[in-house]
Amino acid sequence: MKEQIYTKNTLHSERDVQFIKGVGPKRAQALSKIGIDNARDLLYHFPRRYLDRSTVTKISSLKVDQRVTVVGEIESKNYIRTRRGGYFQLLVKDDTGYLRCKWFNSAKYIQKLFKEGETVAFSGKVNYYKGYELVHPDYDKIEEESINTGRIVPLYSSTEHLKKMYLNSKGFRRLYRKIFEKYAIVIEELLPKEIREKQNLSDVRKALEQIHFPDNTEKLKKARRRFIFEELFYLQLIMSLKRESIKSISKQFSYDSPGKLLSKIYEKLPFELTGAQKRVVKEIWQDMKSDRVMNRLVQGDVGSGKTVVAMLAASIAIGNGYQAAIMAPTEILAEQHYQNLKAMTAGLGINTVLLVGNQKKGEREAILEQISKNEANLIIGTHALIQDSVVIDKLSLVIIDEQHRFGVMQRGKLINKGLNPDVLVMTATPIPRTMSMTLYGDMDISTIEETPARKGKIITKKVKENQLPTVYDFIKNKLEEGQQAYVVYPLIAESEKMDLKAAETGYKKLNQKIFRDYSVALLHGQMKNEEKENIMTRFQAGEFDILVSTTVIEVGVDNPNANIMLIENAERYGLTQIHQLRGRVGRGEENGICVLVERNSSEKAEKRLDILCSTSDGFKISRADLKLRGPGEFFSSKQHGYPQMKIADLIRDRKILETARKEAYKLIRIDPHLRKEKHQVVRQHLLDNYQKYMKYVDVL
Ligand code: ADP
Ligand code: MG
Repeated sequence: MKEQIYTKNTLHSERDVQFIKGVGPKRAQALSKIGIDNARDLLYHFPRRYLDRSTVTKISSLKVDQRVTVVGEIESKNYIRTRRGGYFQLLVKDDTGYLRCKWFNSAKYIQKLFKEGETVAFSGKVNYYKGYELVHPDYDKIEEESINTGRIVPLYSSTEHLKKMYLNSKGFRRLYRKIFEKYAIVIEELLPKEIREKQNLSDVRKALEQIHFPDNTEKLKKARRRFIFEELFYLQLIMSLKRESIKSISKQFSYDSPGKLLSKIYEKLPFELTGAQKRVVKEIWQDMKSDRVMNRLVQGDVGSGKTVVAMLAASIAIGNGYQAAIMAPTEILAEQHYQNLKAMTAGLGINTVLLVGNQKKGEREAILEQISKNEANLIIGTHALIQDSVVIDKLSLVIIDEQHRFGVMQRGKLINKGLNPDVLVMTATPIPRTMSMTLYGDMDISTIEETPARKGKIITKKVKENQLPTVYDFIKNKLEEGQQAYVVYPLIAESEKMDLKAAETGYKKLNQKIFRDYSVALLHGQMKNEEKENIMTRFQAGEFDILVSTTVIEVGVDNPNANIMLIENAERYGLTQIHQLRGRVGRGEENGICVLVERNSSEKAEKRLDILCSTSDGFKISRADLKLRGPGEFFSSKQHGYPQMKIADLIRDRKILETARKEAYKLIRIDPHLRKEKHQVVRQHLLDNYQKYMKYVDVL
């Protein structure tokens, strides 16, 4: 853009979009729905993709099943009636050939959208039916000359509503052109100058121009890099500030020594701790004896022995006269911790209590009383622990097991109880370093990278429906040898009721037909506590041969005699989830066998399940899962309470993430409360835009 364009008017980043030329109140309202309220938001509505010669496929070189973008002119449009209804069809041509684009059913809106002679970019998967076609492709109208003259054309995401007001990709391009031509844009620089210079990042004004009107791929790349950095830099600033806020909390208690209880429990253990377990216990003790609160994450694969580590930490608190709480995501797991830990500490004078949702009123009140008077030392529970009615007298340590199941809020809520307790979070979802930096950047991390040596291994095989009779025979043989088996029914994330239905139907069939000569039990999440407990205990005691369940057994459950697991509709699970499920088998001397039943096969599903069959390394699995599903699906940001990324991709941009992290942490080290004059823009931007992600940040 030329200098003389900036004469008439200036556009400040705070200006309400409705007062920008070419927007107006109606469009402003629709823009607001996608988070665009002021000029900055609008300028930061970055293209989702770019088209240029290298990303557009010529019709003559299409291949079936390829995902492509084709740019062509609409030759004709037709509605074609068939016996089953009909479809709308566009005939599109480029300089190499013809292609059909089809829309089935309600194609009314689409029919009106296109005119003969228009140039449009269509994206989709190539299909072949009497010629190449794209079914229900994405589309973007293109100015005719653009691609062929070698320009890079940005494509913007939009909504149906906006598109009806002509704010499709083409509309956005036109709007931005107007803005850049009509206004002198005044926008604050959100990245401190030193950092920009050191990291070779272009200034915001130049970068904005290149991101909307790229001169060439080189310049576009540089502009994108700048905004990716900016986004990740703010994300890491939040983490760093959280960390500082937590570190600035002083404890209202102190430990002089780990206490005798620790060594007593240690001596009673039926095994030797692994090197990794020992190291992690030491790291925890270092935090516990510091006068600043602990905020530590312990990462370790299923079966790496996190429970013992938790118990040893708890014994330090209890041995010093304080209370420790362990929060588990399900009642079954809480119950199991309760039983295990009671056994581990028998005869040592510890009063362990269990607090879960549906306990009897009298029982619950008695427990609450003990808790409030520091008569109960070790408190194990579920969400029930964080209710306001729970008063914990001298709580100095909180352990949160299987953290990935809890939202951020709950973590905060429990921490608010007690004497600013130390917090230890345990997770069996080993995640790659870049992810943990993002999600747990506010915590210190300990990793149990070694799993105690066991005789048994886990062998995983995937099968199709028609192989099931063979599998059932195999299971029968194993049952004859005195082993037990799990059958797990699919997870349908949205509805526990549907999970239950699948399990119930499956149970009936297995119990009455396939395994009618054996005893089969059903376990599900909606059962009463006592019922669940009863079934688990009886399964453990060998009363049942087969336990049919929903995924309630995902975490924790331990029965060394159950070494076979059949997982139904395995294609519906996350890889890490199956990995955790199968961690229930092969815990004793025998090999564990995990059979994945695939009912709706697809190439992607096959690929994912193959990973499980080929490795039992939790880190490898989560990395692969992450790659296949993308970070958005792998970890919903809502659950983890960090902002949605607009332009950055945590996996693809991991290098930039590392630098952004270093710079962010350095900035907070130099200026912990962001008081320096030159950091005021940063401070204000955080307060204005990231408020809701900064719960518990109190240093600003
Ligand atoms: P997770 O890390 O999945 O929570 P657990 O704490 O449930 O694992 O431990 C799994 C099993 O391994 C338990 O039966 C536990 O007693 C056993 N275990 C833990 N540590 C060791 C060790 N160092 N040596 C042998 N067995 C161990
Ligand atoms: Mg565990």
